[in-house]
Amino acid sequence: MTDTLAVLEPATEAVLEEIPRGGVQDVDRAVAAAKAAFPAWRAVSPADRALLLRRLSDTVVDHLEELAQLEARNAGKPIGDARGEIGMVAQVFGYYSGAPERLLGDTIPVSGGQAFTVREPLGVVGLIVPWNFPLTIAAWKLGPALAAGNTVVLKPAELTPLTAVRFAELCLEAGLPEGVVNVVVGPGSTCGARLVAHPDVAKIAFTGSTEVGRSIAAGAAETIKRVTLELGGKSPNLIFADADLAAAAAAAPSAVFGNAGQDCCARSRILVQASVVDEFMAELERAVTAIRVGDPLDEATEMGPLISASHRAGVASFLDDGAPIAIRGSAPNAPGFWFPPIVLSPVGPGDRAAREEIFGPIAVVIPFSDETEAIRLANDTIYGLSGSIWSRDGGRALRVARALDAGVLSINSNTSVRVSTPFGGFKQSGYGRELGPHALDAYTEEKSIFFATV
Ligand code: NAD
Repeated sequence: MTDTLAVLEPATEAVLEEIPRGGVQDVDRAVAAAKAAFPAWRAVSPADRALLLRRLSDTVVDHLEELAQLEARNAGKPIGDARGEIGMVAQVFGYYSGAPERLLGDTIPVSGGQAFTVREPLGVVGLIVPWNFPLTIAAWKLGPALAAGNTVVLKPAELTPLTAVRFAELCLEAGLPEGVVNVVVGPGSTCGARLVAHPDVAKIAFTGSTEVGRSIAAGAAETIKRVTLELGGKSPNLIFADADLAAAAAAAPSAVFGNAGQDCCARSRILVQASVVDEFMAELERAVTAIRVGDPLDEATEMGPLISASHRAGVASFLDDGAPIAIRGSAPNAPGFWFPPIVLSPVGPGDRAAREEIFGPIAVVIPFSDETEAIRLANDTIYGLSGSIWSRDGGRALRVARALDAGVLSINSNTSVRVSTPFGGFKQSGYGRELGPHALDAYTEEKSIFFATV
């Protein structure tokens, strides 16, 4: 009897689709298929591999609305956001279609011959991804992995497998050979763990919680697998008194409540210079109460529900014990895992809401006195993924950006992810970088060859 998985729609709590749930044997079958496909895939000429990635990008564009609707319903995200995310999936394959023909090495002067380096694919790569940006985060790994000549086994999160399953079909439609992209839907504790342990998997590219990332790094040590980890965050949004306060306040809500706060880059610690806190809070209140929370398929919606009942319970636990709710937005009173956007203040830097990743629409506002204290508070966390600095003093903004222990920073903006720039964390937000021109380094081994000429 096949074990089935009921995939829910978070906005209604209804079953969206029932699909087979994979187990360890399915992982083993997928790894075997990827291993069998590897020699032929790595031998595809660079120009032809580029062409196939370009076709894959075009195929995603041809199915953009279908994939966006599926992602919006399964992950509960606003349809406008979902279209943007699937658009980014297409961009990633377009960007990395330029990579196979630019996988350059070095020539190194030595005596007695010629020394040079080449970059070899790793083999079978396991991709383990979370539920918050399901196909987009998968694409960040698929693009460079495939461009470098690897074959892959992708394990989506059990809550949001539908776009990954459809994507595997689109890969064949785009002309990628069978076995190059394999998808296994199943629990992390069995399927994910098997990928990590499998002797024929050369690397794990993981995005998810810091807790699971830790166990993956430990498991991968058994076979000395290569690992890249994109983990949790508790990112600061630093607002100095000399900033354009109206612009900073107007941008702050989407920087933390985008994707209902289920974003590893969420600027969930809003650090504001004490002299302008009252003015900032008044601006922020206007912006937060104006957020339209509702049906993900309504074009006007800006924030959808949380992903699941258990996740909502975890987020709600941060409001226990008389949390100081300074601003509360709205949320539908209907079936669905709804939660309103909330700002807590006053909050101390040692409070649980200021230290733990909430991964929901709750932000804290913490005042600071000067630049030194701002940097100290911003860095007082185990995480180091992203952050923003708002100031009209360019010198100060750059000084602070250099002083923050985080991988992705923006000045007078809350930008985190671009296809062409590196993305990843310091400290317990993980290691390795995705996207940008150097991502292929993490999907290849460097080989040094000496050719004797005497
Ligand atoms: P999670 O760690 O629970 O799960 C992520 C994936 O790992 C899922 O596919 C899951 O099935 C799998 N998994 C779980 N246990 C496993 C195990 N023992 N072995 C192998 N695989 C296992 O994370 P989540 O709840 O899906 O996502 C939320 C977390 O992801 C947050 O902490 C968030 O910050 C983080 N995240 C980080 C980034 C980033 O780029 N830094 C991006 C998005 C999300």
